[in-house]
Amino acid sequence: MKILIADDSVVSRHLLEATLRKWGYDVTVACDGAEALQVLERPDAPALIILDWMMPGMTGLEVCQRIRQRGSEPYTYILLLTSKSQKEDLIEGMDAGADDYIAKPFDQSELQVRLRAGTRLVGLQADLLAAREALREQATRDSLTRLWNRSSILDALSRELARAWRESSPLGVVMVDLDHFKYINDNHGHPAGDAVLREAARRMQNGVRQYDSVGRYGGEEFLILLPNCGEAESCSQAERLRKQLTHTDIRIDDTSLWITASFGVTAALPGEPWTAEGLIRKADEALYVAKKSGRNRVEILAYHAEPAPAAAPSETAVAT
Ligand SMILES: [Mg+2]
Repeated sequence: MKILIADDSVVSRHLLEATLRKWGYDVTVACDGAEALQVLERPDAPALIILDWMMPGMTGLEVCQRIRQRGSEPYTYILLLTSKSQKEDLIEGMDAGADDYIAKPFDQSELQVRLRAGTRLVGLQADLLAAREALREQATRDSLTRLWNRSSILDALSRELARAWRESSPLGVVMVDLDHFKYINDNHGHPAGDAVLREAARRMQNGVRQYDSVGRYGGEEFLILLPNCGEAESCSQAERLRKQLTHTDIRIDDTSLWITASFGVTAALPGEPWTAEGLIRKADEALYVAKKSGRNRVEILAYHAEPAPAAAPSETAVAT
């Protein structure tokens, strides 16, 4: 457990530091408020700070207020160290954002109890953040493949399109469908089918650049976004992925399965009035052409804005 001590008094600082080290804490020391705030800016900043109230320059109260104004996560637990003992002063300290206080010179057992309360709260906070992160992960990832799920990859498409528009840059949109996937499920069972999906997802994820997005769009269908890729580059990226996907057999127990996939490519180019739905439809059409032309191949269709449908919203073509 990391603790930051901020105190302008050398004697008090050393005493606190020695005590805390003896108790096994990982201690960082700051001589004034400004230095304390700097330490808290670091990515591995302590989540608990023992803060002297009376310091030259920035007082402990001001440091408290600054920390709370930032409102950043994870929470910083503030234990205010004060020689002031009037009740009104303490209220002022708590109002400024301190969590607890301890009178100076401190009593060892009292300090121990206060720190226990602080570390407990910091631990709970960390658990809460981890739980929230796990929930977010659950809500945005496909549980089988760990790729983005359908709604997340569609969100990513909207975001990337907005960025492409802002920066006048292209965006490659690739629809991928594993070939004859039903055959694998029917002949080797669904666990084998799941293993194939996981491995195909892994190969695609490993095959793209760090800033590309790969999502599971449907059963054995995947949507890939390639920022800054026009038509030609999107095609070569798709071709590279196709080769990586089919490069080696997938081993499942004693069975070795060779999988292939068909790729439909289109790209949003600067100056074209594209829509997310139109791009997906176009990539889907290209995928359909790839399927029709013998599978295990990449096909591209240039995107041209289509007139909006007169009545009912059009359906996305489904390639199998
Ligand atoms: Mg002081």
